[in-house]
Amino acid sequence: MKKQYDYLIIGSGLFGSVFAHEATKAGKKCLVIDKREHIGGNIYCENIEGINVHKYGPHIFHTNDKAIWDYVNQFVDFNNFIYSPMSFSKGKLYNLPFNMNTFYQLWGTKTPQEAKAKIDEQITTYGTKNPQNLEEQALSLVGKDIYHNLIKEYTEKQWGRKATELPAFIIKRLPVRFTFDNNYFNDTYQGIPIGGYNKLIEGLLEGIEVITNTDYFSDRKKFNSIANKVVYSGKIDEYFDYKLGLLEYRSLRFENEVLDTENFQGNAGINYNDASYGFTRIIEHKHFEFGKQKKTIITKEYPCEWNPSNEAFYPINDDKNQTLFEEYHKLSLKEENVIFGGRLSEYKYYDMHQVIAMALTRSKKELNND
Ligand code: UDP
Repeated sequence: MKKQYDYLIIGSGLFGSVFAHEATKAGKKCLVIDKREHIGGNIYCENIEGINVHKYGPHIFHTNDKAIWDYVNQFVDFNNFIYSPMSFSKGKLYNLPFNMNTFYQLWGTKTPQEAKAKIDEQITTYGTKNPQNLEEQALSLVGKDIYHNLIKEYTEKQWGRKATELPAFIIKRLPVRFTFDNNYFNDTYQGIPIGGYNKLIEGLLEGIEVITNTDYFSDRKKFNSIANKVVYSGKIDEYFDYKLGLLEYRSLRFENEVLDTENFQGNAGINYNDASYGFTRIIEHKHFEFGKQKKTIITKEYPCEWNPSNEAFYPINDDKNQTLFEEYHKLSLKEENVIFGGRLSEYKYYDMHQVIAMALTRSKKELNND
């Protein structure tokens, strides 16, 4: 019997929205549902005082892939914002990512040769050949001074676990450079959508039926019955009613303040390394779009453990959780007519461009097979 929709898409974040867009373009009928009151998943921005507030943490779009860059630019133009966060540690400010400016601030080294010699000496003393955890990885990448001033306390706050118990790959995200270059990312293309991220999602979902405030789990049977296939971008363990146990996630609590000042910190992001601050960073949202508003909005980010009443932000890809995820993944392969994808469904620390790439690959495979 022909069902009402070809695809029921659960979650209107980037994975769901890209999939819905591609399927609709291929002539399929889609319904997108989201349990939140708005679309866009974690890239959603709320406009307060004329400023786009990144409600679920700062998002800076960056990619090396021209096809992905062209893809998002179909829907919205991007500005020339370059993320250059600072880190506040023991009363001093340092540039990030780790580059010649940081080395100068730490050690007074003025040339790449001097900085390299200093780092090499530290790596030889404190590094290991085959790093097994984040601490060993950081010590092998940048040595003890950077690790203790700019990594350890931040990381342990962020993840709520000892750096020795965290996977090494997390820290590999951060570049180490021997140039005076404060660009946090190495990618060729970078920016913030002009007018905010909502424009990107609205562009992707244009002409597609979307229902917000609707939880798939409130009536799975009914939802499954209206579409031939389900595209699921929520938590994979929740899909299976947590039957093998709960996967752990890191959550965040955001404390927003509207300040009657034009410029609070002079930068979009300042990280706070010291454990004495409960938050990991302060984001000043207007700087993402070079805002000139009279007021400013800042957000302090407090990491905390996920529980069923807050939001799951970061998967914790340590051995224990990764093993459990693999079991859920095996179950997901047996689910007929369900496509799983996105950060929560794949339990992967994806960036936006990676989610889009994944959604394009999956949708292509699916729609060509059809
Ligand atoms: N990190 C750190 N010090 C910093 C910023 C990041 O030690 O000032 C580490 C930390 O472990 C973090 C990882 O690098 O989890 C990745 O940071 P990134 O900024 O990429 O995280 P995200 O923006 O996704 O929160």
